Amino acid sequence: MYFCHDDVMLQRLQWLLSLQASPTYSRWPVTKESKSCFGSISRRKNKLGFILSSLEDKDTFIGSNFFPFLSKLHSGRRMSVFTQQLNPITGKLEWGIQPEDYDYKQEVARSAYADMLHDQERNDKYFEGLRRSIEELRRRGQEVHVLDIGTGTGLLSMMAVSCGADSVTACEAFHPMAECARKGLKANGFADKVHLVPKRSTEIEVGPGKDMERRANLLVAEVFDTELIGEGAIDTYRHARDVLLTEDALLVPSEGTVYAQVVSSKMLQRWNRIQPVTRVKPGTKEREVLVSVPVCVQQCPGAAAVHDLQLSQVPQEWFTPMSHPLPVLWFDWSGRKKDISCDEITRVKFETLASGDCDAVLMWWDLRMDQDGEVMLSCAPYWAHPNLVDKCWKGSSEDIPWRDHWMQAVYYLPQPRTVLQDTTLTLLSAHDEYSLWFNIQKDESECVCEERPVCECGIHIVNSRTRLGQLNDPRRIEIYVRVLERYIKSDSVCLALGDGCLMAIAAAKLGARHVYMTEGSDANRRVMQEFIMANDVQHKVSILSEDVSDTSVDQLVSPATVTFSEPFFSTSLLPWHSMYCWYLRNSCLHLLAPGAIRTPATVKIWGIPVQYRDLWKIRAPLSQCSGFKMDIFDKLIESACEEADERVEPQPLWEYPAKARGDPVCLLTLDLAATIPDSPLICADSVTLPSPGLVNGMALWADWHMTDQLEDILTTGPVQPVILDQYISWDVYSRQGVYLFREPVTVDKVQPYRLHYSVTFQPCDGTLMFDFQLKNQTISNVHSNS
Ligand code: SAH
Ligand code: ZN
Repeated sequence: MYFCHDDVMLQRLQWLLSLQASPTYSRWPVTKESKSCFGSISRRKNKLGFILSSLEDKDTFIGSNFFPFLSKLHSGRRMSVFTQQLNPITGKLEWGIQPEDYDYKQEVARSAYADMLHDQERNDKYFEGLRRSIEELRRRGQEVHVLDIGTGTGLLSMMAVSCGADSVTACEAFHPMAECARKGLKANGFADKVHLVPKRSTEIEVGPGKDMERRANLLVAEVFDTELIGEGAIDTYRHARDVLLTEDALLVPSEGTVYAQVVSSKMLQRWNRIQPVTRVKPGTKEREVLVSVPVCVQQCPGAAAVHDLQLSQVPQEWFTPMSHPLPVLWFDWSGRKKDISCDEITRVKFETLASGDCDAVLMWWDLRMDQDGEVMLSCAPYWAHPNLVDKCWKGSSEDIPWRDHWMQAVYYLPQPRTVLQDTTLTLLSAHDEYSLWFNIQKDESECVCEERPVCECGIHIVNSRTRLGQLNDPRRIEIYVRVLERYIKSDSVCLALGDGCLMAIAAAKLGARHVYMTEGSDANRRVMQEFIMANDVQHKVSILSEDVSDTSVDQLVSPATVTFSEPFFSTSLLPWHSMYCWYLRNSCLHLLAPGAIRTPATVKIWGIPVQYRDLWKIRAPLSQCSGFKMDIFDKLIESACEEADERVEPQPLWEYPAKARGDPVCLLTLDLAATIPDSPLICADSVTLPSPGLVNGMALWADWHMTDQLEDILTTGPVQPVILDQYISWDVYSRQGVYLFREPVTVDKVQPYRLHYSVTFQPCDGTLMFDFQLKNQTISNVHSNS
């Protein structure tokens, strides 16, 4: 038995594999199920994208690992829409294709739009940049004709009008957003002051009676993502310079600079480079290698895709700076001081600050919002932030503006490089039209790879960053190895259910008679085959056919005495999605010996009421933005959220501080050794909220009880004891479930609140549905008394 949506998963899988195999793009239908199955996508890098003008372009986009959020493709007469989809294999966002009439609202709701508009600093600095540039044009004695590329809600256009522009043209590639802009401009009384063109800027025609009467002498645009150029800024600006702007036009922003800081970090490398599995050799204190890593994996330059994260949340002890932050790439958006090139490499020399391995490059950027560099908009982490020059490492994430639509990023070097302190090295920084990459050179004569690193071993393609982290997580490994050491005997026949389950190899190395593993995809199978060879366990480990229920017990040396799951599946987004192991196990009961050991034995779903410090902004209504009404946009988001069936979305909570506002509550316990029930299971109860303060959400996770021993609980939630009113320390190798209350409440002594919860488990498709309510006890008491 499989999840209902398994067909969709398979289709997606085939789609991805076909992509890897050939440069041609194959389509797959996207159904309602697939939307809810993969409904909770990450909000990363997903501001609305832009139109692709030709089929040829699209192939390059895929080849360059480019994931803008939403685009339109003219393919002959039919219009299709590309949307961002979560790839079940890699956990990354990939292209999907939708018919033109596809309902966009959900995509808008999930995009970073709300968070972007909540970004006060961004809004203020765009306003200030516009004000100063318009003044400058006036000083020159010119009329001011503004072009706003990618107007979104119309915000920057309204700012330009307020600053006294003579004419403003706003273009927007994404039609539902252009529609939102139209309504928003009208509601604010700007309908006749802003000329709205629902087109991508590269399709705008200039001339009397056309989209724009004349070329603009002021361009304002916010077409940047975490990687700066990932949303297509290079093409947008090149085209604007050539076709849409006067020769002396001013631009807001006028320039962009990319900064890089080389670091040594074993912790960051856990998200990139697979380490051997080790254990304490029984009866000794020494560690020994249990699972070795194949040479092809060791030598792989790693995933090409950027690792974007909230750098200011990375603990300082996780890395050693090997360089100061270095300005490495510079873009003059006007293209006048320097051409806006589609690809370039720069070399910057630096002295190493410490001895160690150069592992990775931390990256962020800033924008010059005016012409003189007095108004700067920086995405630097706190230690490099221009507002905190005096504080440096003594600062914290609380000292700088929070934003999620732009983060910082980590780029792993193709190979770590061991160096001594005070060595002079050269940092190579490169970009193409949409992405960046880095490498290190000892001196100019040394020949190093200047190409964008691309995974050659497969493991970086089939695994998400989160999963790579899990595979390297000492806490997980310790529990798994201990459990296997206890259960694996020389006559054990082991059935390992999961994706990329290195522990299957550990079981063979620990002396099992035979290990059978299931792997969800061909790509996973290929990677696992490499591990089997590298560990010389070919005779002891077999990979079963994809649909394990097709395997007959005669194909095994004897029925399985141990079934084991980490549990992890590449389709698991929320922690409890790995309950798939239960379904998979139930589909192969015929392969199990009587009394076979089943691990994990139990899963418990937990929740805790919290105050999210910043994360609430991704859903909170704006009401207004820099003095302009935003109710039209709020309504759009609200109706989209209401339509979406998923109220819980996965987030790596270690990046998003949340204070405990109550004790963790066990919401549901499922006995995974039992068979799957026939009818839904509902658990409902209520608890009093003990801690005064604001409650704006719930954080949810799963605890996997590998055995009935306390020490064998693998949590995907808090890894330190939870203390009321304190920030929670989360497992950094999981995404937790985030639920946001539409109406946050403030608990105090006079206003006691109870949290009412109900969780429904639907056995037919394995879904969990959550309902949380905060009820004021004084009110409900009055209610029940009357
Ligand atoms: N200017 C708005 C929205 C910024 S988000 C604000 O600052 O609040 C970027 C928007 O630009 C998206 O809506 C995207 O669809 C649009 N966009 C990006 N490149 C574009 C282009 N070349 N032409 C038209 N729209 C573009
Ligand atoms: Zn690789």
